[in-house]
Formats: sequence, C-alpha cells, structure tokens
Amino acid sequence: MNYTKMSKNDATDTLSKLTKKYDGYLEMGLKLDMSRGKPGDEQLELANGMLTVLENGDYLSPGGVDCRNYGGLEGIPEMKEIFSEMMDAASDEIIVGGNSSLAMMFDNVSVYMSHGVKDSEPWAKQGTVKFLCPSPGYDRHFTVCEYFNIEMITVPMTGNGPDMDVVEMLVSSDPMIKGMWCVPVFSNPDGIVYSDETILRIAALKPAAKDFRLFWDNAYCVHQFNGTRPAILNILRECEKTKNSDMPIVFSSFSKISMAGAGVAAMASSVDNCNYIRKRLFTQTIGPDKINQLRHVRFFKNYKGVMTHMNKMADIVRPKFETVLCNLDKELTETGIAQWNAPDGGYFVSFNTIDGCAKRTVALCKKAGVVMTGAGATFPYGKDPRDKNIRIAPTYPSVDELQKAMEVFCLAVKIAALEKICGSA
Ligand code: PMP
Repeated sequence: MNYTKMSKNDATDTLSKLTKKYDGYLEMGLKLDMSRGKPGDEQLELANGMLTVLENGDYLSPGGVDCRNYGGLEGIPEMKEIFSEMMDAASDEIIVGGNSSLAMMFDNVSVYMSHGVKDSEPWAKQGTVKFLCPSPGYDRHFTVCEYFNIEMITVPMTGNGPDMDVVEMLVSSDPMIKGMWCVPVFSNPDGIVYSDETILRIAALKPAAKDFRLFWDNAYCVHQFNGTRPAILNILRECEKTKNSDMPIVFSSFSKISMAGAGVAAMASSVDNCNYIRKRLFTQTIGPDKINQLRHVRFFKNYKGVMTHMNKMADIVRPKFETVLCNLDKELTETGIAQWNAPDGGYFVSFNTIDGCAKRTVALCKKAGVVMTGAGATFPYGKDPRDKNIRIAPTYPSVDELQKAMEVFCLAVKIAALEKICGSA
C-alpha cells in the first residue's frame, strides 16, 4: 500500500488503526536504547582474552621495550606494524596514540587552530575557519568544529562519497576552508565506500588554502560483514602523486575491534606532518599507555589476527543488521514513505523519512521507550535541512530487543508520515 497515493479518507483510517496499535506498545513499558553505535556485550566478550593475556611478568614488548615505563612517544613497533597494514601506511608515517582516535582528531584540529599547520599561520589568526562536512555525517566530527567555532559547510553525500563537484568548487575558491571530514569506508551513517573516482578527485584538489587538511577518519576500515575488506585507493599515496602529500591525515582505532574505551588509536600522515605532531606530543605527554598496546599485540598477534577477529565480529553483527533490514523491507518497502541503505559493513543503517518527519518519528519512538539517535544529529549544528535522516544503530541491543524496537520504529515512521499526509502534523 503506497501511502503517498492514498485518498485522504484511507490515510485517516489507516492512521487511526496504526495509532491504536501504537498505544498497545505504549503500555508495554519498553526500554530500548539504539541511540549510539556502541558494541554489544557479545562483541566485547570476543576480546575478553585481552584482560588476562598479560600474565604476571609479561611487560616486555617483543622488541624488548619495557612497557611499564615512560617513553616510546609514538607507540611500540609491533603495534605500529599492525596499524601499518590496517592504515596502508609506512611505519614512520604512523603515530600510535591513546585509546581514542576522536581525541587525536581533536588534538590535530586544536594544534592547527593555535599554531597552524607545519609552516603556516595559526588557522584561528587568519579569520573564521571553515570545514566542509559531507552530510549525513558523524555527529562528533561536527561537535569538534562547534567547540572551536569552526563554521561548518554541509556538502551532500552521493552513493560514491561526497559530491565532488561541490567540494572542488568550494575548496578552490575559499582560502578560509581549512579542512574536510571524510569517513571513506562504511561512512557514518550512510555505510558508503568512497569510489576510486571520488578518492582521485579528492587527492587532486587544489585548495585555495595552502594549509588545507583532509581529516580521513578510517574508523571502519576492517568492519566488513562478508570477510573481504573494501579495497579503496590509498589516500596517502594518491596525494603524493598529486603533490598534496601533506594534505591527508588518516585516523583509525581499535575501539570497535577490541573494547570501546580501551582500544588503541593511531594517525598516519606524511613524515613531515608526523614530525610536526611529534613536537606537540613531546610537550603534551611523556608517552602513551604501552601496556595496553602490548595487550593488543599479544591478543591479536598481527594484522591477520585482527582480520580473523573481525570475521567473528561480523557473525555477531550481521544478524542484527539483517533484523533491522528485514523489518524495514517488510513494513516499509511498499509505503513509498521511506528510503534506506543496506550497507556491507560498518555500524549504521541510514534511514530517510519523507521530508519533515524525522523529528516526529524519533519523538514517537522515544515516547514508546525506544531511544534513537536524535533526528538532525547527522548534520552540522544538529539541523537536518529536510528533517528526514535518522541513524539506526543496530549493534547494542540483542536481536530480540531489536525486533521489538524495529516494530515500534516502523510504526512510528508510518504514523509520522500519515500525520503529514493527512495534514494533522
Ligand atoms: N570516527 C567515527 C566515524 C566513528 O563512528 C567513531 C565511533 N562512533 C569514532 C571515530 C570514535 O572513535 P574512537 O573511539 O577511536 O575515538
């Protein structure tokens, strides 16, 4: 039944039937949280071995570094080796940090704002700094911009990555555009993998700002569901070819591989950029948590170990995505009031209602005890101009909980759309 083609009487009738059904869910007193892309317990348990992998007396890294002590500013070599394969970067292009890649991104933005990129004036001294924000995107990237009063410019996403016509036009014309956020693999929330053409065009950008930086957040580089990692072009190497070697800064972490909050993060960039960041690091810390790095090295052993682990992870996560997608297919395909992505990996299903219905849908879910990510969160300033995008995060609830949550969600989508169609919203 296509809701958009219904007569007003039929729409009103259907709305009243669905509202009765919804009232039934209200009485159930559900309490389900789908608000953030957090790993579920089963995923975390996969890495429980990490808690005991270091037995008493095991504190020397394979290369002989005493991980208990200070030092080793940029990580132990064996951790770098794992990141080197994950991030497609050479060892001297990598700095291993603490647990959070978001913290490393924040630090990078912070240092460029206050001190500039390696040989330029501080961004903040030059005027109002602007960033391109392909959207829907990751809300925490946008929060970093807000914190530093960086003006965010929304760039539409396409099925191949950011709309490059828009990016090229803006970047080449405004010297105050200093950065762009990119999640090239299984983008948050769309689950899109950037095409070769997109990456080549990004690498070939000719920014008006000589101190422009690309924040290449490869958080989901190994989060595939089908065992095969998406083969995207290597941004570091492509930017070398276009004489933009200092432009990209790649980030990744183990937060959603081992334990969220107790993983290990890293950045990769040109040797020059890394040297510049090292100076800052030297001032900031006497060294990262090498014991946690050693734990990761002992537990995963090498990159192959990470991939084996991620295959086990996929077996846990895949059924949850299937539950979400089955419900959407069954309940909404024929209604003409929704569109969504079926990603091959990552953490989210990006869902679109008809214009003007996302906030209402999320509010209806909340009233029935199902907490979703706030509508608008996937856009700069929390404002979705068409109020239609909702980020569904399937990983945290159990499959049974998800099933209930999706029943409520689909009902809420229908009610919000029918209210609009009937003119009662
Ligand atoms: N980048 C993206 C795209 C993410 O989705 C997340 C987690 N939600 C992060 C970074 C956060 O990573 P970390 O835990 O390493 O700070």
